[in-house]
Amino acid sequence: MFADLHTHTALCRHADGKPEEYFRTALARGLQYLGVSDHIPWPEGYDAECRMAPASFPEYRAVVNGLRREAEGSGVKILYGIELDWVPGRMDEVAREIENEKFDYRIGSVHYVGDFAFDNPAEIGQWEKIGVDNVWERYAELMCDFVQNFDFDIMGHADLPKKFGHRPSDPAKFLRKMREALELAGKRGIAIEINTCGLRKPVREMYPSLELLKTARESGMPLTFGSDAHSPSDVAADFASALELARAAGYRSALAFEQRKPVELPF
Ligand SMILES: [Zn+2]
Ligand SMILES: [Zn+2]
Repeated sequence: MFADLHTHTALCRHADGKPEEYFRTALARGLQYLGVSDHIPWPEGYDAECRMAPASFPEYRAVVNGLRREAEGSGVKILYGIELDWVPGRMDEVAREIENEKFDYRIGSVHYVGDFAFDNPAEIGQWEKIGVDNVWERYAELMCDFVQNFDFDIMGHADLPKKFGHRPSDPAKFLRKMREALELAGKRGIAIEINTCGLRKPVREMYPSLELLKTARESGMPLTFGSDAHSPSDVAADFASALELARAAGYRSALAFEQRKPVELPF
């Protein structure tokens, strides 16, 4: 009944383990779907050390196809996903890269405010320089732009700037701006994910907060679950807590996607 739609592979250069080890954890934890959703290799040269090289893309496809064969008959279905970024002015490069790929789903995530990779531990010193409130404000604006201007299925870790414990001085202001993004996403059928990775980060909380998740539900957004595993043992990590959070927000089902069509999984 469960789908983990947010996992990575070693191709992105900041994950470890073999793809089949991710699959074995999925099997052991009783998942119905395991979605592989690595970071897209673009735009050319952009933050290149944190993503697969463009030349690795065929290998990524081959990894997922190999896993599909291995998982056949196991009860776990392997899904071919991708995690996209929003980089203003360079989305044509993305569109070109992915237009012919038969993804089961696309996750849309904001990891950058300007050139600042605010969730990268190596750049944590930039936070004070750029300004905590400024990052939160720009983040919500960028998410609005992403939803408005690009075609994707799942909004990734919707309050990621809290990762290291930075909080906006006026949380209501952030929520107001995010509400715009969530309402628009609801109209477009975009799902919100509960991403358990935050529990393993300094903030020790899932993304998003209960408040944001309730707003997403009120906005008509369906739900997905994701571990954001960068290591095999993290597949489906803390999904019991994720389920509690989902129920608290009023959700009674989650989605998987096959060839970009939603499949409803009640819980
Ligand atoms: Zn991400
Ligand atoms: Zn991710």
